[in-house]
Amino acid sequence: MNRIYNFNAGPATLPLEVLKQAQDEFLNFDNTGMSILEISHRSPSYDEVNNQAEATMKELLGLGDDYQVLFLQGGASTQFAMMPLNFLGEGKVANYILTGAWSEKALKEAKMIGQTHVAATTEDGNYVRIPSMDEIKLSDNAAYVHITSNNTIFGTQWQELPSFGDVPLFADMSSDMLSRPFDASKFSLIYAGAQKNLGPSGVTVVVARRELLEAAPANANIPTMLRYQTHAKKNSLYNTPPSFSVYIVNLVLQWLKANGGLEGAQKRNEQKAKLIYDVIDASNGFFRGHAQADSRSRMNVTFRLPSEELEKQFVAESKAAGLGGLKGHRSVGGLRASIYNAMPLEGAQALADFMESFMKKNG
Ligand SMILES: *Cc1c(COP(=O)(O)O)cnc(C)c1O
Repeated sequence: MNRIYNFNAGPATLPLEVLKQAQDEFLNFDNTGMSILEISHRSPSYDEVNNQAEATMKELLGLGDDYQVLFLQGGASTQFAMMPLNFLGEGKVANYILTGAWSEKALKEAKMIGQTHVAATTEDGNYVRIPSMDEIKLSDNAAYVHITSNNTIFGTQWQELPSFGDVPLFADMSSDMLSRPFDASKFSLIYAGAQKNLGPSGVTVVVARRELLEAAPANANIPTMLRYQTHAKKNSLYNTPPSFSVYIVNLVLQWLKANGGLEGAQKRNEQKAKLIYDVIDASNGFFRGHAQADSRSRMNVTFRLPSEELEKQFVAESKAAGLGGLKGHRSVGGLRASIYNAMPLEGAQALADFMESFMKKNG
């Protein structure tokens, strides 16, 4: 089997155990004589998948009955519009903390719908850091504050997640959901496109306080599919769900639970990130990290080399060595190693070793 270490930002690597289990039960799911791809989303077998995925997500996050998990479509990008459509009422102001391209996109959608306010931004210097709490200035009448917990493109991450008292806190956790323990009860709404840290593309996970979902204006002019209540009332089964994607997310959740939950994930993620950052820090400037050290992401490590020529060579030679997907995003340039939950320690070690030998040859 010629599987590579896959450092792509998303869709991204999945746990091998999960892929194998999906392969094993691909043709005959749960003794139905059908593939999960072929069964009805109204069948007891799919109900079990849907319910188990919701229950395990809440268990891992330490959340109870006051929260609901939704499995939606349209990607995290559709959430950018759904949040203000549902929760940005007349006279209210949606607050955004800008830490990268994805938070900018979230703000852009909210602007089309109502009043917005930029509570802080670190755009100056091309988003190398997360703002400190005293840089953040909320507006009056805040409907909610929105943050991006991990900035996939720039490689920065909130080290400590903030909270703002009574103002509902919303977070795009697309690229670090379930990568570490945190107090999820501080958040009113969390969402994540699954294709980075949770599973395959095609499903977006939303975790929200029931009270918030129920307070959304039910009769406002919001199209049915864009109302959270539509999906909440029907337990994510209002229309045909992306059943295969939800099934894989459920397998990933079981895998995570069996491997020490969020504490286990955090321990592994810190070890992996340290291996790579240590090489960067000991390289005397041969490798230059994009993120400021105190804002570094444990999910996406972004770095440059002394020249674009060397960066191209690095991408080509690493690929030949079985390390894929390391080319950085065009807005940062250079390299990006995405080391989500499913990247094994051996993968991070292989990359660290490759970086050292590349530097020896070319430094
Ligand atoms: C990838 C990504 C998105 C976009 O997700 P889609 O599911 O493709 O819409 C949004 N936010 C963050 C932080 C991301 O990493």
